Amino acid sequence: MGNPLQQSQTAAELASAGQVIEIASKISSFDGLAEIVEADLAALEAEKVPVEWRESLVRGELTFGFADPERHLPMLTGGAKARVAAVCQRCLEPFQLKLSVEPKLLLLGSEEVAEDYDEFEVWEVDEQMIRPQDIVEELLIMALPFSAMHDNMADCRAFSAGNIPDEESGEELVRPFAALRTQMTQNEMDPDE
Ligand SMILES: [Zn+2]
Repeated sequence: MGNPLQQSQTAAELASAGQVIEIASKISSFDGLAEIVEADLAALEAEKVPVEWRESLVRGELTFGFADPERHLPMLTGGAKARVAAVCQRCLEPFQLKLSVEPKLLLLGSEEVAEDYDEFEVWEVDEQMIRPQDIVEELLIMALPFSAMHDNMADCRAFSAGNIPDEESGEELVRPFAALRTQMTQNEMDPDE
């Protein structure tokens, strides 16, 4: 049978079968995603690139079925999670970026419309055959943040102890060095600038 994640079937076939697909695939099997991660990590010095980042698993489950009782509207629901290596745009250090998607999709041809299914996102299926893995990959790529950053400031080197902003009070970030630097450059011309 092989991995159903990688088999191409029509949306109607997947839906009719009520196919449930377990996801446990390495990042390396998602070519497009791996390429993006690799390009991001290229900003790091070689020794800082996390080893075996391609081995990290994407896990989850997809369930196919029909959204309507007439069985005209193939749908895909489920979830997938992954941890991908990324470079924090604040401190430029590598970290594990958590990605999580919970698709609720209607898999429709470009001609088809579905009304009153607002809770679903319509996913246009241009080709006859779809490969579930491609959908998972596209969802994960879309979930990548525009600018990846440590979500926990305590882990981020850009915030050394003492200048972690107080989130509750919304206090502004204290940057003593930046302030000092501004003061110095005002007092004398910096030859480096
Ligand atoms: Zn950081």
